[in-house]
Amino acid sequence: MTLTALGLPSVLPRVTGDVPADGPLLDTFGRAATDLRVSLTDRCNLRCTYCMPADGLDWLPGDQLLRPDEVARLVRVAVTRLGVTRVRFTGGEPLLSRHLEELVAATASLRPRPEIALTTNGVGLAKRATALADAGLDRVNVSLDSLDAARFAAITRRDRLSDVLAGLAAAKESGLSPVKVNAVLDPDTGRADAVSLLRFCLEHGYQLRIIEQMPLDAEHRWRRDVALSADDVLAALRSQFRLRPDPAPRGSAPAQLWQVDGGPGTVGVIASVSHAFCSACDRTRLTADGQVRSCLFANRETDLRTLVRGGAGDDAVEAAWRAAMWSKPAGHGINGPGFVQPQRPMSAIGG
Ligand code: SAM
Repeated sequence: MTLTALGLPSVLPRVTGDVPADGPLLDTFGRAATDLRVSLTDRCNLRCTYCMPADGLDWLPGDQLLRPDEVARLVRVAVTRLGVTRVRFTGGEPLLSRHLEELVAATASLRPRPEIALTTNGVGLAKRATALADAGLDRVNVSLDSLDAARFAAITRRDRLSDVLAGLAAAKESGLSPVKVNAVLDPDTGRADAVSLLRFCLEHGYQLRIIEQMPLDAEHRWRRDVALSADDVLAALRSQFRLRPDPAPRGSAPAQLWQVDGGPGTVGVIASVSHAFCSACDRTRLTADGQVRSCLFANRETDLRTLVRGGAGDDAVEAAWRAAMWSKPAGHGINGPGFVQPQRPMSAIGG
C-alpha cells in the first residue's frame, strides 16, 4: 500500500525549527493553510444517518459557543495576519445562525477581501439566498444525497427535499455561483442516486461533487467494506455517461474533476478515503466553540476561545493559531493501522 493511500503525503520533506512568527500559516511539511472553515453551530435540522443519531447529540452549551463578535475577530486575524484567502461558513447547519448575514458582511469588509462560501443543507436557503448574496457571499455548496423524496427522507430522517430544491434554485437565481451540490452516497441506493443527481445537476447548471463517506459519524458505524468508494461511483456513472479527466490543473482542490459527455458539464469525485489528498491540504478549521483544528481527523485542538475571553491581544491569538497549524499531522491516517476516529463527529467539527 502506498503512503498516499494511507492518507500520508509521499513527497513532503519535514521542516524543522521554530513556529514562524509571520508569513503564511505553515506546517512542518511546508503546506500553507489559506482556506478557513468556520463552524457556526454544532446543531442541525436534519439527521443524516451517516452523520448524526436520530435523536441528535448533546449540543455544545451556549456559553461555550463563540459569539458573533468573537467569530468576526478570529476571521479578521486569519485573513489579515495569517494569509487566509478563502473563508467558508459551515456547521452543524450554518443557516441556523441568525448572525450569518452579519458575519458574511464583516468578512466581506476585510482587506484583502477573501472569497466567501457557505456549506449548507439548503433547508431555509430559499428565504435567505438574496440577503446572503447582498451581504457578500460568493458561492454555496448545498448537500443533497438523493433526488428521490422517500430516499431523501430515509437518509436525512426529515421530509425536506422540496425545501432543498427551492434553496438550490434561489442560490442560482441570486448569483451564488457556481452552485455546487455535495452528495454523500448511501451504500445501497447510491449508485442510482449518483446517476440521477448528475443528470439533474447538468440540466440545472449545478456542479455535482460526490464525497466518499468518512469515519466521522457520531455513532462510529462507518465501515470501509460497506461505504461506496470513488471507483464504485465512477463505475456507476460510466454506465450512463462518458467521463474524461478534466484537463484543468487540480491544485489543492479535493475533487478530481471529470468532463461529462465531452463537456462543458463536469462531475467531481472527492476520494478522501481511497485516494487521500493530504499532501495538498490547505485547510485550517475553527469549531463553533472556538477550537482550531489543523485536520478533520486531528486528535488535538487549540483553544482560542479561552484565549480571546481571557483578554489576549491579536499577537497572542495569531501565535497560538500558528503553533496549532505548525503541528498539523502529515495526513489523516484513516488507512493506517493505528487510526483512531476523532472524538468529535463531523457535525461538531464543521464539514
Ligand atoms: N449542514 C451543512 C450541510 O449539510 O452541508 C454543513 C455541515 S455538514 C457536516 C457538511 C458536509 O459534510 C455535508 O456535505 C455532509 O454530507 C458531509 N458529511 C457529514 N458527515 C460525513 C461523513 N461521515 N463523511 C463524509 N461527509 C460527511
